[in-house]
This record gives sequence, structure tokens and C-alpha cells, in this order.
Amino acid sequence: MQFKNSREFAQNLDKKDPLNRYRDEFIFPKVNGKKVIYFVGNSLGLQPKTARKYVLEIMDDWANLGVEGHFYAEKSWWDYHERFSGKLAKVVGAKPSEVTVMNTLTVNLHLLMVSFYRPTAKRFKIICEEKAFPSDQYMISSQVRFHGYDPEDAIVQIKKRDGEHNFRTEDIISKINEVGEECALVLIGGVNYYTGQVFDMEAITRAGHEVGAFVGWDLAHAAGNIDLKLHEWKVDFAAWCSYKYMNSGPGNASGCFINEKYHNKKDIPRFEGWWGHSKDRRFLMEPEFQPEPNAHAWQISNAPVLALAPYLASLEMFDEVGMEAIIKKRNTMVSFLEFVLHEIGKEVDSNFEIITPKDQDQRGTQLSVFLHGEGKEVFKYLMEKGVYLDWREPNVIRLAPVPLYCSYEDVYEFGQILKEAILKT
Ligand SMILES: *Cc1c(COP(=O)(O)O)cnc(C)c1O
Repeated sequence: MQFKNSREFAQNLDKKDPLNRYRDEFIFPKVNGKKVIYFVGNSLGLQPKTARKYVLEIMDDWANLGVEGHFYAEKSWWDYHERFSGKLAKVVGAKPSEVTVMNTLTVNLHLLMVSFYRPTAKRFKIICEEKAFPSDQYMISSQVRFHGYDPEDAIVQIKKRDGEHNFRTEDIISKINEVGEECALVLIGGVNYYTGQVFDMEAITRAGHEVGAFVGWDLAHAAGNIDLKLHEWKVDFAAWCSYKYMNSGPGNASGCFINEKYHNKKDIPRFEGWWGHSKDRRFLMEPEFQPEPNAHAWQISNAPVLALAPYLASLEMFDEVGMEAIIKKRNTMVSFLEFVLHEIGKEVDSNFEIITPKDQDQRGTQLSVFLHGEGKEVFKYLMEKGVYLDWREPNVIRLAPVPLYCSYEDVYEFGQILKEAILKT
């Protein structure tokens, strides 16, 4: 598409956009009485208007039914988490039986490592990306130490080449081959939180399996953002938080994928609790654990339904819209943002270096932009003018024009305010 950096052009794209009406389904913060331009949905998604209703439903059921709400609420609480599997499976490309929702992301990665990181004297290494999200680094390092290994020996980081902003698949695969039989687990963020790079999960998963390792993915920045085919790619396990692209609310629950080949397996260790016990027998209070025949076997406690409620509200919107439509709009909108950045760059004679890959298959909603020189002042100016974006040291702004609630006009307007910011600061 031939883009133009004009308000009229952007408004025209909005008029033709089938997802434009969903913008009204979200609540926007306001600055100076105006809805903000919200480009931080990669950090915390906006609140869907239906979220409050879903939470109040539970508050009312609790008020009116007390303990009976577990079984007699319209959306009964005892199996509330099961309502997610079918719809979430579509978002991540899985079978419904492979998906569950529980706890929070880092907690789930720890729990999944109980099953999938079982080091032996010979095979004990974990391959991850350099500068992984800090929580992932702490998680991996503490797991390694828990098993009595030294992180210096057991953690192998994939590195970028000097002067390059992104990882190369060939380098990741050759690292996996190099570690070979010592590799117990490959665990990487499917979309890099800093650059927005999308990894070739299929090729990397295959490479990990070829050396006999398990392969898991942290999909914090991937779920609800990019096309995922976890089952088809034969991924062993994955987990994601729901408050970024999935708009479920701050600190909210995490989705998990556990490949069906590990269901009903006696030789897979797992930390267990009553919510993973066979559903039909859960309340018989038997002494021996009988796992659910699916991903729910990894559940531990009874479901925190007040937290799950807004996630369910948001998920229903994803189900209605579908990832295909989201991705289609995302591609156009991110390309438009890229175009606007180049145009504004020319106008103000400034060089915005986009460090996110140019190739659409290697990126999702986020563009990370290196602001040579200008930096923090520009960022502050934008925030004051009601453009919400995020800042990462040393000099990077991350922009995520989320297709469900951002408009093409937001992108145009952002460009104008950015220009002002640079000329004034
Ligand atoms: C956001 C994010 C997290 C956050 O983990 P929580 O346990 O939900 O606090 C972890 N890992 C990555 C890669 C993230 O982007």
C-alpha cells in the first residue's frame, strides 16, 4: 500500500477498517480531557468495557449465593478456568486440552520447569537468549542453582552479532547443535520484549528436539500479538501473561500450554494440588492424586475467579474478532507507523533507527526506536501530550499500536506530536 502522512489518509484507513468499532469497547485514560494515544498495550493492555461486568457478576454471585456459587453460579466457579481452554487454544494454535490458565507467568515457568528441566550430570544446560527479560533470568538461574548446578556452567546465552540488533536463527540453531547432548532445555521469549523480534519458533523447536532437549517458550509478548501454532510446531510447553496484548488487567493470570504427548504420563514430575485432580473425583477427597487427562493436571489451587473474570471478558472479544483479522490490521498499522517515522525523520532531519526487524514475519505489533541524541526529553514531552509509550535505557522508545483499540489517526497524530517534541526540546 502507498501510504501518505496526512490526517485525511489516516482517517480513510480508519473508515475502511473492520476492527475500528472495537476501539469503543475499551476505556482509555485521558490527558487534558482527551483520550490518550495508547501505544503501551505491550506492557498493560487497556480495560475492555465488559471486564467490569464480569467481575461484578462474581461479586453478585458471591453476595447472593455464598459458597453455593461454586456450583450454582451461572458461570460456576469450580470449573471457571475450563471456560478458557477452547478460546485460548485458538489464540495460541493448540488443542483445547493442551491449554489451561492458572497462577502468574513466572510462577508457571517455574512449575513447568519442574516437569521439563530435569538435569542429569551429562545433560544439564539451558539455552536462552542474552539479556532475556529479567524475571526469566532470575527464574532460570534459581532453577539451575536449585538443582545444584552453577549458572556459569549451566546457562548458555545466545548472542547477537556485533553491531546487530537482532538474533539470527542460524546462530541460535548452531548454538543448540554446539551444546548438543548437554542441552536439557531451550527456553526463549517468543517475541523479544526489547526489540519486538519474533523468533522462528518452529525451526528452533525442531533444532532443540534434534539434540534431545525439551523446548519451551515464554510468550509474554507473543500471545494475542502474533500467529502461533504451538501444537503444529511440536512445542513442549509455553506460558504467557495475559495483561499485555490480552488485556486482562494488571498482574493477571497466566496461560499455559502443555503438549498433549505429556498428558496422562506417569513419568512426568509435577507439583500437584487438588485442582489438578481428576475433575469427577475432585471432591471425594481421595488420598491419591489422579491427574486430569489434560493440561489442567498442572493446576494446583482452586481458581482465583475474581482475577480470571476480566481475562474471560477480554478473551471473548479475541474469540469474536479472531487472530487473523488482528494480524491483518497489525501488519498494515505497523507499516504505517514505520512510514510515518521515516517521514517525520526527514522533516526534522533526525535519524530514528528502528531496531525491530523490517520483515513482517519477524515482528509483531511493536516497533522499538533508537532515538539518537534526543532521548528522554522527547519521551517526557510525548507523555505530557497524552502519548503513552515506554522508555528503555539507554535510548529506546517502544511503540505498540495495538490493532484492537488503536487507530490509524492515532499513528498520524503521534507523528505530529513527535515532530513537535523534537523541534521544541
Ligand atoms: C512481562 C514479562 C514477564 C512478567 O512476568 P510476571 O510473572 O507476569 O510478572 C516475564 N517474562 C517476560 C518475557 C515478560 O515480557
